[in-house]
Amino acid sequence: MAMSLTSEARMIKGVGPQRAELLAERGIYTVGDLLGYLPFRYEDRVQFSQVKDIQPNGTYTIRARVIGGQAIRNRRFRRDAIYHLLVEDEAGGLLSCKFFHGGYLEGRLKAGQLLILHGKAEVDRLRPARLEMINPQIELLEREETDSTEMGRIVPIYEAIGTIGSKQIRRAMYAAVQLIDPRMPDVLPENLRARLGYPARGEALRHTHFPEPTESLDRLNTFRSPAQQRLIFEEFFLYQLSLGLDRHATRKENAIAFRVREDRVREALKRILPFKPTEAQKRVLAEIVADLEKPAPMNRLLQGDVGSGKTMVAFEAAVIAIENGTQAALMAPTEILAVQHFLSARRTLGKAGYRAELLISGLKPAEKQASLGRIRTGEAQLVIGTHTLIEENVAFARLGFLAIDEQHRFGVLQRKRLMDKAASHGPRPHVLVLTATPIPRTLSLTLYGDLDVSVLDELPPGRTPIVTRVTSERHLPGVWEALRREVAAGHQAYIVYPVIEESKLELKAAIEEYERLSKEAFPTLKLGLLHGRLASEEKDEVMQRFHRNEVQILVTTTVVEVGVDVPNATVMVIEHAERFGLAQLHQLRGRIGRGAEKSQCILVAPFRMTEEARARLDTMVRTSNGFEIAEADLELRGPGEFFGTRQSGELGFHIANPLRDKHLLELARKEALALVEEGTQRRELQRVLGMLPGEWQRRYHLAKVG
Ligand code: ADP
Ligand code: MG
Repeated sequence: MAMSLTSEARMIKGVGPQRAELLAERGIYTVGDLLGYLPFRYEDRVQFSQVKDIQPNGTYTIRARVIGGQAIRNRRFRRDAIYHLLVEDEAGGLLSCKFFHGGYLEGRLKAGQLLILHGKAEVDRLRPARLEMINPQIELLEREETDSTEMGRIVPIYEAIGTIGSKQIRRAMYAAVQLIDPRMPDVLPENLRARLGYPARGEALRHTHFPEPTESLDRLNTFRSPAQQRLIFEEFFLYQLSLGLDRHATRKENAIAFRVREDRVREALKRILPFKPTEAQKRVLAEIVADLEKPAPMNRLLQGDVGSGKTMVAFEAAVIAIENGTQAALMAPTEILAVQHFLSARRTLGKAGYRAELLISGLKPAEKQASLGRIRTGEAQLVIGTHTLIEENVAFARLGFLAIDEQHRFGVLQRKRLMDKAASHGPRPHVLVLTATPIPRTLSLTLYGDLDVSVLDELPPGRTPIVTRVTSERHLPGVWEALRREVAAGHQAYIVYPVIEESKLELKAAIEEYERLSKEAFPTLKLGLLHGRLASEEKDEVMQRFHRNEVQILVTTTVVEVGVDVPNATVMVIEHAERFGLAQLHQLRGRIGRGAEKSQCILVAPFRMTEEARARLDTMVRTSNGFEIAEADLELRGPGEFFGTRQSGELGFHIANPLRDKHLLELARKEALALVEEGTQRRELQRVLGMLPGEWQRRYHLAKVG
């Protein structure tokens, strides 16, 4: 039977049923799927480096023969060994290598064996005159290998899949590449491809796996070869296309056009404002109003650093919706935050006669039923809750406006689902997404490409900058002394423990610390304990007492990370600060410095920590600008980590990297939107949609388009 790209992967020579199973675990079922598994780097196996030429810290690929090797075992942990290897290249240069956890190499490397080493040259600590390689990647060569996949060319290196090493993947890939039909259908429109000078899909795949000898190694390893650029473009293009289509579909839907320019509405807005809005708040409200007056749904992202006053803007939009005879809803990522928003809504909107409703899972069944009833009849005008708002049994009488707070806690798709859900009963509500994660513009296009963006780039007046410093556990007595002074001056404090996943062990430590602090460091002060495992009422109770200054020191976990607003709190001590990420530290610190008083943030960390951890804490000391912190965070962690695994997994990029490939992202966005603008009924767009892999169609609900 003739093989093709749709043949099962196990049909490829050298794959077989066992390896096929490993591939399937990675979602690779067919030959075509396999071709989508791209190399992460390349080696020049035409011109090898010579040992005599290598320099400290350079990275080299060397072909050499084994002289000898020996595993040296740790006396206590017999299984842990360092494998010492000595090799010699063709010119007679000797190189020693060390493999940590290298016991597995014992007996596998025999004298005379030919191999290829790839790694960084480092100065040998014991003999500084010599260079060595630590844990280089090695590939054994059989015979005098002349095989065109292994030698005499630029060779692709793949991430191993289970026990299938790069070499085996390369061989299977070589067979798969032979099956590419140069005229295979191309998801990129022909004229677009011609205009951008991109190779056809088949050619791009072939050259990405097995580059032409004329291709530059440097270009390949920086993902700048034309073939790679085309594949990167394709991923961005399809993603942006899906966002564009979504946006297009939403625009066609009906929403209620609100009337804002009426005295009644203006009066209402004035009535609820507890303070004079900043210029930024005024500008952003005007942008929102312009959207709300249109009969198409608003889809807007409100980006503003921690403490910039996003809540008030959301409340203003809510009042406009209510004055127009509809309901408004505000969804928060945590119960604590929902309750806090609810209390502040009652303070401001309640005073003006609006009825706010709280809907969280912690409610008693009877309360919940009553609440659901008031939402159904429309009696509840502003509904505040957690993700409970999108549960099956929640039906709004007439939802006109929906705000989603602290969007970075929700995934992109979660937001989409929420918006669909909100629209399932009647016209689509206007949606405002609030986020404090200041991400660079190009990246915000990848995450929020379907939203219009407003920016609150000004903090309310009268804030004094927060002083941040790093100290070690040894100095804690002094830190506690500073806390006592602050409390004596009438202020409040947070002490934060790293219970990040709310694991039992971490939680136990936090609770024990709370007990110890209550007894030893602050026996005369009122302490409160807040963590995610408390029942809703308990959380509420503690937070309310903290709001009323009946709790002076709140011992807590990352549950206070988002949104909590107690302006009288002026000190935050973060223990084990080295365990937190930058974004998290910034969010946490945003809980203080909210009033006119001087605030201080004390980061407690051990003397010894990783370079990365130190860089994080240094960044916190250096700046409190969320934008700078986000950039530093991106630099330290790279985009995958930055977005969080959930986000990057959802985006489904295999080769594209939004940070590295910014210009392609911009280009792809422009082209994708142009295609959508041409009209969804046009043949070219229909053709592209018809060709999208099922994965994409499912991911972006593209089925509903057309
Ligand atoms: P975030 O943008 O982080 O959600 P909040 O909405 O919680 O910020 O606002 C932070 C603090 O600033 C709150 O105490 C809020 O009452 C206050 N605030 C907001 N806008 C103003 C303003 N225009 N003038 C003075 N204080 C303001
Ligand atoms: Mg907020």
